[in-house]
Amino acid sequence: MKSFLVPPQISFGPNSLDYLGTLQGERAMLVTGGSSMKKFGFLDRAEKHLTQAGLSCKIIDGVEPNPSVKTVLRGKEEMLAFKPDWIIAIGGGSALDAAKIMWVFYEHPELNFEDIIDVFSIPKLRNKARFIAIPSTSGTASEITAFSVITDSEKKIKYPLVSPEIIPDIAIVDPEIPATMPPHITANTGMDVMAHAVEAFVSINASDYSDPLALRAIEMVFEYLPLAVADGKNLKAREKMHNASTLAGMAFSNASLGIIHSLAHKIGGELHIDHGLANAILLPYVIQFNYQAAAEKFSVIEKTLGINSLANAIRELNQKINIPANFKDIDWLEITADYFEEIVDRMAQNALQDPCTLTNPLQPTVGDMKELYRNSFYGVAAQ
Ligand code: NDP
Ligand code: MN
Repeated sequence: MKSFLVPPQISFGPNSLDYLGTLQGERAMLVTGGSSMKKFGFLDRAEKHLTQAGLSCKIIDGVEPNPSVKTVLRGKEEMLAFKPDWIIAIGGGSALDAAKIMWVFYEHPELNFEDIIDVFSIPKLRNKARFIAIPSTSGTASEITAFSVITDSEKKIKYPLVSPEIIPDIAIVDPEIPATMPPHITANTGMDVMAHAVEAFVSINASDYSDPLALRAIEMVFEYLPLAVADGKNLKAREKMHNASTLAGMAFSNASLGIIHSLAHKIGGELHIDHGLANAILLPYVIQFNYQAAAEKFSVIEKTLGINSLANAIRELNQKINIPANFKDIDWLEITADYFEEIVDRMAQNALQDPCTLTNPLQPTVGDMKELYRNSFYGVAAQ
């Protein structure tokens, strides 16, 4: 038996933020990142809607990129003091992920972080509060997923926490919010969407339920990402990318991912490369590696798009949105070939162990992972 889980409500399109004005409740805890949501006025707008609906509001801000256990525990204490019946996360994947786990500890203050690391170990939520997620990037799809990624900064380990309990009750996918992203964040997070959709479509856990969502998301990224990068004010392109992110999220939250993500997680951690950028560079190399193992699926994508080679089409797309073809060409990345050779073994071993490797269409060896790293670092086109 398989199940397909998504939030019970997705409100989308221009002005969907207004939905907050219809909420019934007493206290809303808003959780956000650094400063962008305040700066662009979305936090104030959210607060205004909630206040007009008769809720009192409090804000937890300062959630950092790659949020830490410490930040989550700070949020837990604030929630225990304020006793919200709604938790409303507004921001990038980092703010949404942190808020999800603050919620877990608010509902179950007796738990420690170690108690919730194992898959499905999070106990029942919604005894105290319900959860609304409002993404400000079009990428991670945390508003839809059963995942949260929290970093133990002392041990320097990123933990992907998984449970259907942390799927939000309501996702608000309002395209005006990501419209303030600068071009490079638009490009990187947009290629994260592409990686989610492609990996979910060829995953060994793909299904009749996830396939149409993934395929449509791929089409939408090809069509609208270059437009959103070229002109951030193109609201149609922003809306299509925001919806594509959520569609791809519905697909990968259920079908899981593959080794683009395994490889990206480890090289991102070692070299501090943004997640979406790492995915974008790895995509064509991994597609070529996986092609024969999922040839039918890849040819469905190619027929749908009317192209001969998905890998080449992604190379062209990367070029259009100013993403380099290989890691060595990232202009700010100052590492020598010697240093890369020093870390490549460790990265390959760790990437093989990543949970995303399990659903890749082809089971790689550690040698395969090393070769994929080398090819994508130096720019050798795999055949
Ligand atoms: P972040 O939430 O980390 O935000 C990155 C940067 O973008 C921040 O500086 C943020 O600023 C800024 N920003 C966000 N929105 C806007 C906007 N509308 N306008 C201008 N600037 C903006 O980025 P991501 O969304 O890419 O999330 C990455 C995190 O999500 C990682 O921790 C990753 O591991 C995790 N992740 C979670 C998944 C899940 O299913 N839960 C799946 C994949 C990844 P500021 O802080 O000031 O708001
Ligand atoms: Mn991703």
